[in-house]
Amino acid sequence: MVKDKAPRLFGTNGVRGVVNGTIDAQFAARMGLAFAVSLRRRFGRARVKIGTDTRLSSEMLKSAVVSGLLSGGAEVVDIGMCPSPSIQYSVGNDMDCNGGVIITASHNPPQFNGIKCISADGTEMAREEEEDIERLFFSDISGADWTETGNFFVEEGANNSYMDAILSATDVEAIKKRKFRVIIDCSNGAASCTSPYILEKLGCIVISLNCHPDGLFPGHMSEPTEENLRDTAGVVASLGADIGIAHDGDADRTVFIDENGTYVSGNVSLSIFAKYEVALAIKSGIERPVVVTAIDSSSAVEDVVSEEGGVVRHTKIGSPVVARVMMRDGAVFGGEGNGGTIFSSLHYFRDGAMSAAKMLEIMATTGKKLSELAAEIPVYYQAKGSVDYSSLLKGRGVEAMSEIKNRFMGKLENSIENDLHLSFSVIGKKTIDGIKLYVESRGSCKNWVLVRPSGTEPIIRVASEACDQETAERLVSEIGVFALSIMKKI
Ligand code: MG
Repeated sequence: MVKDKAPRLFGTNGVRGVVNGTIDAQFAARMGLAFAVSLRRRFGRARVKIGTDTRLSSEMLKSAVVSGLLSGGAEVVDIGMCPSPSIQYSVGNDMDCNGGVIITASHNPPQFNGIKCISADGTEMAREEEEDIERLFFSDISGADWTETGNFFVEEGANNSYMDAILSATDVEAIKKRKFRVIIDCSNGAASCTSPYILEKLGCIVISLNCHPDGLFPGHMSEPTEENLRDTAGVVASLGADIGIAHDGDADRTVFIDENGTYVSGNVSLSIFAKYEVALAIKSGIERPVVVTAIDSSSAVEDVVSEEGGVVRHTKIGSPVVARVMMRDGAVFGGEGNGGTIFSSLHYFRDGAMSAAKMLEIMATTGKKLSELAAEIPVYYQAKGSVDYSSLLKGRGVEAMSEIKNRFMGKLENSIENDLHLSFSVIGKKTIDGIKLYVESRGSCKNWVLVRPSGTEPIIRVASEACDQETAERLVSEIGVFALSIMKKI
């Protein structure tokens, strides 16, 4: 791999930007070239699969990335419009494939798009692999000799293989017997090509909303928030459906609406899955099954996992790191509170359709409605705030931001021991990603507050969770004031 650090291009989920603003054809072609060179240096050859979501600019960016890849000597296989997990599955299950590219900006507004590079096993890239591409992008690379420029192929049927894989990892017969009435909302994104068909094969009565591909997202914006899904929730309740299922734009995430039309938060569905997967693992003879989740996930996950006899490992925020710790520790399940879940029985990346199939499986095998499953999860209350330090940047860029962040976090850690006077006593601290303080609480309920600098914006995020809303808000407010006093001294 190329040494020395280059400016950072990749965020937590690939490179994203406004089309023909921060991300254009020239940029995309250079990314393709850098990826091809990186792969050829590491593997001696490069075969790359590429697919897109439904955005208007996806074909333009795909063609540019393909051009760069071919120029760098890679063989390119275009698998067309697919959900991100379908592209990842296709890459991971092609033994000759060294990597993949997904053209998507996930849940961002329609003017955005992005490029996400995938490892040979279909997982999201480790940071070192991304750094190699970044270093090459900013260095003096050129295309391959004219005799070595790559070949281009089109492959049909990637989504069919992916759908079969989901069905093979699901208890299809148990779900079929229940003939669930399901509202599926694809947010006009890539799941339009797959999820309604998977649900049909699961014997569901399928009513689809926003399941025609449209990069303008006419139904609602492609982030499946409670607000964006208000109409969908109304349809679930009024049509007497058993469940509402909604994906984000590239369908690596899924959120649910119960039979009453109530939005189920991502932390609650994460806890339902964790509880079920640990119980299944224990039944199959695994002792102390491991569940992996990010440091900002609800304590409800720990509560249900330890009650079932499993153990939770916390990681930094972001699905690539959750997936890598799952692989390292042989975890049965992992995910985050944003609707992104990873079932290791199928593969080590987020998969929205797998989440949907698994939730139906849980309802079928337990005989419980979604509202009943949600009611089994301990209730916690959350609050959020932030401290803005953009005025300290004085027009300086990313490097100044990272210097301020580091100084702030150093000062915060030192000051917590001596100068922090909360109206609660601190009983524990974790520094996996930012600083998470556990404070006194009643019974088995856990109260905590997490202070963490944003990776992309000049703000310090403060998030809390508590047994009641008032405590959650007080924690954010008291820590927010303390963080501001430290920021003023920088
Ligand atoms: Mg997504």
